[in-house]
Amino acid sequence: MFDKKKWYEEHKEHNKEYFKKYNKERHQKLKNNPEAKRKRKETRKEADIKYRHNPKHKREKRKWDKKYWQKNRRDSEYKRKKKEYNKKRREKYKDKLDEQCKRYRDNNKDKRRETRKNYAKKHPEVIRKHCRKRRAMKNNIIETFSDKEWLQALKNTFGVCPRCNKYVGISKLSLDHTHPISKAVQGQIYTIDDVQPLCNSCNSKKNNKIENNMEVK
Ligand SMILES: [Zn+2]
Repeated sequence: MFDKKKWYEEHKEHNKEYFKKYNKERHQKLKNNPEAKRKRKETRKEADIKYRHNPKHKREKRKWDKKYWQKNRRDSEYKRKKKEYNKKRREKYKDKLDEQCKRYRDNNKDKRRETRKNYAKKHPEVIRKHCRKRRAMKNNIIETFSDKEWLQALKNTFGVCPRCNKYVGISKLSLDHTHPISKAVQGQIYTIDDVQPLCNSCNSKKNNKIENNMEVK
């Protein structure tokens, strides 16, 4: 039986040369012949309606593209090529793409909000990390403890606020800096021992007062 793939592999170089020449010649021909150019444009249009804008064909193509991507996504050569291609494309159509993105954002505000919400629910650790980074950057402080350490500190309370000894549940306890960040010097380091889980009411009562053990009742 005729092996299409094998034939293609064997004639790859030859075909490449051939089509290059063919396309060049055709391009020259079309350039000098406005009638042929118009005709070609029309055939293209017809083909577009038949294939590119055909929902069935679109669906099939998307399926095929996905399959191809799944097969090749770990391939380094494919990754490199794709990256290069995307970069070129972004540069070429920058204005158009920017506008497209903006339009999508404006038209899908609710959808985007929903997606963000779902993501935050699914990945609380990512959100916590992000919050911590933001807090540290905003206040020019350095937080050296990890997410895991903070989670452990939360677990150790069993949901009980260490200040008022009321049970509020782990999810209701929020991070409090023993030495308030509003009074921290630039670049002050906060370790896990410098933060504590407090309930919301204690956290707001404490305000900016510097905690010392004598004050705790
Ligand atoms: Zn409390």
